[in-house]
Amino acid sequence: KESEILRELREETAQMEFSEMQISPEQGVFMAFLVELIQAKRTLEIGVYTGYSALAVAMALPEHGTVTACDMNEEWANIGRKYWKRAGVEDNIDFRIGPALETLDTLLSKGKHGTYDFAFIDADKINYLEYYKITAALIKSGGVIVLDNMLWSGEVLQPEDDNALILNKTAEFIENDKRFFNMLLPIRDGLMVCLKQ
Ligand code: SAH
Ligand code: CA
Repeated sequence: KESEILRELREETAQMEFSEMQISPEQGVFMAFLVELIQAKRTLEIGVYTGYSALAVAMALPEHGTVTACDMNEEWANIGRKYWKRAGVEDNIDFRIGPALETLDTLLSKGKHGTYDFAFIDADKINYLEYYKITAALIKSGGVIVLDNMLWSGEVLQPEDDNALILNKTAEFIENDKRFFNMLLPIRDGLMVCLKQ
C-alpha cells in the first residue's frame, strides 16, 4: 500500500546511483504503521539519502510531528525535498547536514534525552553501535528504535568484514540491552525493532 507520492520518489531514485540503499515499500509501510501505532510525534532519522523513509514517516505523523533527519549529503536530500513539499510535510522534516554522530551529540548536549518517540537508523554501518547507544538515550520510554540492514545479506552470522562485524556486535549489544524489548524482523535486509521499556 505505497502512496502515489512515495512511488514517484522511488521511481526517481531508481535512476540514481546507490538507489539500492533506499528502503523497500513494505519497510516504509511498516514504519508508518509503527508511527501510527505508538502515536509518535517527535522522530529521528539517521541516514536520509533521497528522503523516502523520512517521507514515509512524516506522512504518518500528526500535524505538528517532526522528523529530525541527519545526513551528510544535501544534494540527495534535495531530491526528497521536492516530494516532502508536495506531500505538505516539508516543514515537519528538519534536515541536519553533517556527520550524524556530531548531530546526535549536539542533541544530547542540548538535553534531549528521553524526548523522541521513534527513531530509524540507516546510515553508515560502521557507526551503528554508536548510533544505537546515543539513540537509546534520546528515545523515551514506550518509544521505538528501528535499525535497517541488520541481516546484512546473512553475513551478520559469519562476519568477514568490518561492516558485518559491527552489525553482529550491534545485534549482540541490543540483545543484551535490558532497557529494550527487541526482535529482528526478516523484512528485506532485516529490521531490528526495539521497544524501550
Ligand atoms: N533511509 C534512506 C536510505 C539511507 S542510505 C532511504 O529510505 O532511502 C544511507 C545514507 O547514510 C546516505 O544518504 C549517506 O549519505 C548517509 N551517511 C553515511 N554516513 C553518514 C554519516 N557518518 N553521517 C550522516 N549520514 C551518513
Ligand atoms: Ca538501508
